[in-house]
Amino acid sequence: MTAYGKPVPAPDADSAPYWQGCREHRLLIQKCGACGAVRFPPASLCPDCGSAAHDWIAASGRGRVYSWIVVTYPVPKDIYAGDVPYVVALVELDEGVRLPTNIVECDPHDLMADMPVEVVFDDVDDTLTLPKFRPLPD
Ligand SMILES: [Zn+2]
Repeated sequence: MTAYGKPVPAPDADSAPYWQGCREHRLLIQKCGACGAVRFPPASLCPDCGSAAHDWIAASGRGRVYSWIVVTYPVPKDIYAGDVPYVVALVELDEGVRLPTNIVECDPHDLMADMPVEVVFDDVDDTLTLPKFRPLPD
């Protein structure tokens, strides 16, 4: 926990560049240096070919809603009571990987599968920025 008052990600050796990219408002994903596959979440080895060689590339920040849930019952209540209802979603980026995230700036009832979305960066405190997504305007 931080002053933010909610559980936060704990960057490790594999994911630290991803979280630093978020701080800089860049959505970074790994691209295998051997086979070229992109991957998320960050990992030491390519799940396709096993190579450790990789580059970090800036994703477009655009994608589509793959699936989602609407949280209406806050657990734990003392932390999330002020947030409900909120959306937890899997967004499939244009690059082909899926990220767990929140959909914001959208009534949960208006969500649709395959809805086009774009990343927005939520600077929650001095050390953490969370990538969230909002619908693209029509
Ligand atoms: Zn590979």
